[in-house]
Amino acid sequence: MTIWLAREVVLEMERLGSIYYPLETGGMLLGWRDGPDRIATGLIGPGSGALHGLYSFIPDGAWQRARLAHIFSATAGDLDYLGDWHTHPDGVAAMSEVDRRTLSKIERRVRDPLMVILAGAASRWDMGAWFGTRPGYWGRLSASAAETRIFDAPTGWPVLMEVS
Ligand SMILES: [Zn+2]
Repeated sequence: MTIWLAREVVLEMERLGSIYYPLETGGMLLGWRDGPDRIATGLIGPGSGALHGLYSFIPDGAWQRARLAHIFSATAGDLDYLGDWHTHPDGVAAMSEVDRRTLSKIERRVRDPLMVILAGAASRWDMGAWFGTRPGYWGRLSASAAETRIFDAPTGWPVLMEVS
C-alpha cells in the first residue's frame, strides 16, 4: 500500500507539530481509497479540547467527529476518515504499544486504518506510516509499514484543513 499525501497535509502536520512542540499533537487524515492505496488530501487538527503531553496525546474526539461529519457531507463523501496522525517530539517514527492499541480502536470505525507518525524536532520531522490489517475476524490486528509519497494535488481536488 502507498499512502499519497497532499503537500498541504504534510505541511499542516509539520506546522501543528512545531506549534505544540515539545508536546505531542495529532488529528485525523481524510481522503479516499484507490485500489490498495490511500489518497489523503484532508486533515483535521487536534481540537481545542485535546490533551497534549510530552508522551501522550488525546484528541478532542467530539469536535473531530463533528468536523468529519461536516466535511464528509460538504464533499459528498469524497473526503472520508482514513486514520490518524500524531507527533513524537524528540522521538522516533515508530509505533508504540499505545499506538497499536489506538490503531485497534480506529479499526472499529474504518477498515485497514492508517497511522502516520511525525518524529523529530520543531524544525525537522521524519515521517513514518503504518496500516492495520487483521488476518480474519478473530486474528490479532497487526501494523504493517506503508510507503508514503507527497504529491501536489491538482486544482479542483478537495484539499481541506480543519484546525480549530
Ligand atoms: Zn505515538
